[in-house]
Amino acid sequence: MNPNHLYDVIVVGGGHAGTDAALASARMGADTLLVTHSIETLGQMSCNPAIGGIGKSHLVREVDACDGVMAKAADQAGIQFRVLNSRKGPAVRATRAQADRILYRAAIRSVLENQPNLTLFQQPVDELVIENDRVTGVRLAMGLTLRAKTVVLTTGTFLAGVIHIGLNNLQGGRAGDMPANSLAHTIRERGFRVGRLKTGTPARIDARSVDFSKMDVQHGDTPTPVMSFMGSRDDHPRQVPCYITQTNAKTHDIIRANLDRSPMFSGVIDGVGPRYCPSIEDKVTRFADKESHQIFVEPEGLTTHELYPNGISTSLPFDTQLEFIHSIAGFEHAHITRPGYAIEYDYLDPRDLNHRLGSKHVAGLYCAGQINGTTGYEEAAAQGLLAGTNAALEAMGKDGWVLGRDQAYIGVLVDDLVTLGTAEPYRMFTSRAEHRLLLREDNADQRLTSQARALGLVGDARWARFNCKMDALAGEKRRLEQTWVQADSVQAQWLNPQLKTPMTREASLADLLRRPEVDRTLLAGIPDTDTIDPEIALQAEIEIKYAGYIERQTAEIAKLKRNESVALPLDLDYSAIKGLSNEVCQKLSDTRPETLAQAARIPGVTPAAISLLLVRLKKSG
Ligand code: FAD
Repeated sequence: MNPNHLYDVIVVGGGHAGTDAALASARMGADTLLVTHSIETLGQMSCNPAIGGIGKSHLVREVDACDGVMAKAADQAGIQFRVLNSRKGPAVRATRAQADRILYRAAIRSVLENQPNLTLFQQPVDELVIENDRVTGVRLAMGLTLRAKTVVLTTGTFLAGVIHIGLNNLQGGRAGDMPANSLAHTIRERGFRVGRLKTGTPARIDARSVDFSKMDVQHGDTPTPVMSFMGSRDDHPRQVPCYITQTNAKTHDIIRANLDRSPMFSGVIDGVGPRYCPSIEDKVTRFADKESHQIFVEPEGLTTHELYPNGISTSLPFDTQLEFIHSIAGFEHAHITRPGYAIEYDYLDPRDLNHRLGSKHVAGLYCAGQINGTTGYEEAAAQGLLAGTNAALEAMGKDGWVLGRDQAYIGVLVDDLVTLGTAEPYRMFTSRAEHRLLLREDNADQRLTSQARALGLVGDARWARFNCKMDALAGEKRRLEQTWVQADSVQAQWLNPQLKTPMTREASLADLLRRPEVDRTLLAGIPDTDTIDPEIALQAEIEIKYAGYIERQTAEIAKLKRNESVALPLDLDYSAIKGLSNEVCQKLSDTRPETLAQAARIPGVTPAAISLLLVRLKKSG
């Protein structure tokens, strides 16, 4: 690290947002410095050892399509892979990898250390240096000031972090790590809009003290799924099973009897917790009629005995944690290696950011990850990719990169955050995307790799592989359209009993695939069909089968695009627009939408208000 150097981009924080931000910036050729508390904790998974899952794998694949690191690291560290929702439609299928924490960290660190244009430096950042509303660098705890054209803040749960175990609390960014108090203080002093959120994690358990015979076993899928478009099964380490057990009436009684010693229920914690990843005490009170809750017992890695009991995150006192865990089948003699805890931390109101994840108030400053009110590694990496890319673009004097809701889950995530803000930790779901059929995990490369290549994010190896795949896909679609099955052929006779209405005349394989009851496995007996790469066969099938729906969604998007191109000035005085209600005026002033379409997505902003805005724009324009 050179203290007298002017960096293009400084990224603060080496978590999931920071690593993908720094890598994206460096891949684009920007001179990038990643400053983080500890080089040992680069890529650390603070909570569950898993990557992907519903909604989240879409983000991972999108980051991967832009040559980001998360999916590749998951392939190298994944000790169990499954495709969730595999029997449902292609829009909601999601790959999930159980990861070995140590292997995951090693994979991330190795990519970071070998990335050209990227320098790593271990130091707490205590302050942002801001001159005339522009960030010009960061001040380190050891007193040094480092200068940069742009800065990306990715401090996760560390800003003024407080850890709670029962009614005891201590300052910390996560268990074993110091908080970022000075930085939190200077951010508040600077007048950023700041809120408090909380999240929690379960106790960890020693596998040698667990009776697995009382649990159900859950194996990964065969053949083993792969996370990265560049990955292969050969990248995976040894695969291991997970187990399933559940809480019971006794567990719930113990938890209820101790609620007054929970920091959340006794009012010690102000921050709002994640609705979709609630603590066990939350579940027991919110779903009081449920007699049990499932617990996925997940190995933390191949070289440790520690287990992660997914589903019983808690901030109850340690004696209560011990008692309720011992009431669970298989955990009667469980030895706890680490207590569960909740953490409360500062986050910055994401409505103060634009769609490039840049600050609306401090030029050159970008924010990504948990600091923006999200939860989850995948949400963090997705924002990191976008923020890092935009920070590099700005430093190079180039236009920013924005992703629409119709292009990527990253676009949905960012638009939700900057338009609606968030009052609770935000996590991604497929239901948040209105154009789901277009935004599948299987086609993330088709949606993003060309764009990312043009930005300088995608290396030659991925670009070559992507082009090969596109050629193969086009060839397969052609083959399906041009291969005919005659109504009186042996193949038709074999197919007919499996069709709702038997074939009466010749049909192409594509025609057959358009029938709801036919999938590619049914056509496997037709010459050449069984030799096609399964990934290509799947994508060709989806594109042919759902072509009608895909066209309809594409037409809807074209209509919406018209409002997307109507820009709203950031300094528009909404109070001067006659006819806008006080409520709408307040909401528009709080969010300061960049386009008419974004304004229309703010809850409570009515079509009538949008018409008034249009009239106002026409008058001034
Ligand atoms: P982090 O991964 O937190 O990384 C932040 C990085 O910044 C760290 O390396 C830190 O050392 C560094 N840093 C911070 N401040 C400074 C500074 N001033 N100077 C230098 N470096 C700094 N997610 C879920 O999806 N589900 C869950 O159930 C869940 N539970 C969680 C429970 C706990 C207790 C915690 C701590 C997190 C939990 N998470 C959960 C969240 C998940 O860990 C985060 O969403 C994810 O790690 C966010 O990534 P990030 O890069 O934004 O931040």
